[in-house]
Amino acid sequence: ASGTAASTDAHRLRSKQAVTPRSQDFNAWYLDVIASAELADHGPVRGTMVIRPYGYAIWEAIQEYLNVKFKETGHSNMYFPQFIPYSFIEKEASHVEGFSPELALVTVGGGNELEEKLVVRPTSETIVNHMFSQWIHSYRDLPLMINQWANVTRWEMRTKPFIRTLEFLWQEGHTAHATPEEAEKEAKQMIEIYTRFAFEQTAIPVIGGRKSKLETFAGADKTYTIEAMMGDRKALQAGTSHNLGQNFSRAFGTETSWAVSTRFVGGIIMTHGDDTGLMLPPKIAPIQVVIVPIWKKETEKTGVLSAASSVKEVLQAAGVRAKLDDTSERTAGWKFNFWEMKGVPIRIEIGPRDVSSNCVVVSRRDIPGKAGKVFGISMEPSTLVAYVKEKLDEIQSSLLEKAVSFRDSNIVDVNSYEELKVAISSGKWARGPWSASDSDEQRVKEETGATIRCFPFEQTQGIKTCLMTGNRAEEVAIFAKSY
Ligand code: AMP
Repeated sequence: ASGTAASTDAHRLRSKQAVTPRSQDFNAWYLDVIASAELADHGPVRGTMVIRPYGYAIWEAIQEYLNVKFKETGHSNMYFPQFIPYSFIEKEASHVEGFSPELALVTVGGGNELEEKLVVRPTSETIVNHMFSQWIHSYRDLPLMINQWANVTRWEMRTKPFIRTLEFLWQEGHTAHATPEEAEKEAKQMIEIYTRFAFEQTAIPVIGGRKSKLETFAGADKTYTIEAMMGDRKALQAGTSHNLGQNFSRAFGTETSWAVSTRFVGGIIMTHGDDTGLMLPPKIAPIQVVIVPIWKKETEKTGVLSAASSVKEVLQAAGVRAKLDDTSERTAGWKFNFWEMKGVPIRIEIGPRDVSSNCVVVSRRDIPGKAGKVFGISMEPSTLVAYVKEKLDEIQSSLLEKAVSFRDSNIVDVNSYEELKVAISSGKWARGPWSASDSDEQRVKEETGATIRCFPFEQTQGIKTCLMTGNRAEEVAIFAKSY
């Protein structure tokens, strides 16, 4: 019968063996990891996703960090309804044009045809603005700075767990300001907060910049973005911040909106994972240290388990997220594989000999095999805690370094369209001076499959000539294929 412990384990085992090596098939690997590591499952409706506890814990780590940063910068959380009158969406021309194909509509409620159909929110600019205009009576009521944690629905055609789902979780910040300068400062501040979050918490070296006019959010004057390079070298838009100008708020002030979604979880998987499975940066790992007790004879069991559980308590008391895997149903070897596949940064082994020498064995997930294994670390609480914390920090920075060098070795500086095509067809990102037209940008997309990911904030100085037209260019743009 399904649901018994045995069948769950059998499923685990089967799915564990089914992890396709990343080097063999990136997409199959990604889906296998999500299933085997129990991050999420498909919902019954196409393109929907059930986020399982281990995946949800990663999202919670994202929330915890950002929620604090949003409050520190003066924003308050609140909540808006998810049903929006259809007429609201129609008010802003480019907004309705951009979102129409993705809208889910409610036409029947309580068995009756509704007088006005409702939109299930794809984003909340229209309803937020509707309420803001009732709350803002004069410039004294500005700035107004709010955020909401919510679900949104966009009827996406091509979907992929975490990366692009019909319904996803996100935070959306919405602010209103007295002056355009203030709004611009806010939009940039929030993309800076996302950038720091990506680097420091998730070890993802995103590139921040401005979207091209074609790629700007429907209804925004300017869109800022953070772009991440995944393990297959495709780009992932990991967060956006929009300066909306007065497009939604003609009567008062000037607005911004900014968002990060459950897509970020997908970004973490696809940045750090390897052939074995998931590899989680310690700062956002739900479990930072897994403790695996090893015993053969029953007489050894009590001593090993009691040492293992006191190690767990010592680590937990020091604020380390530690888990003891003390089930008898699985061998130690099976557990090693399982927790490696789940991406736990550090494993601690304790066997009978370790108990008698008051030591443990510590292994790093990011350094496979013997090279990542250190014997004889003292179980003495202060020594062990200091050692584990130091290793967690080392893993965190090592993952970032690895990702930075991978990113940098896969960005090519180009000066002509020919060079751009070569770079893109070899799977890399192309960076080159750009001042050409929207239709030229469209042509690049049609001919190479790459889009302008952003005009990065970090620009080189000096005179540039557009790679496409040979005209003078003010900025370089980054082109890449993307998710
Ligand atoms: P946008 O409102 O279009 O700027 O989207 C804000 C952020 O939400 C994007 O930067 C993505 O990270 C994320 N996002 C957009 N569409 C989806 C989706 N279908 N599934 C998951 N995340 C999404």
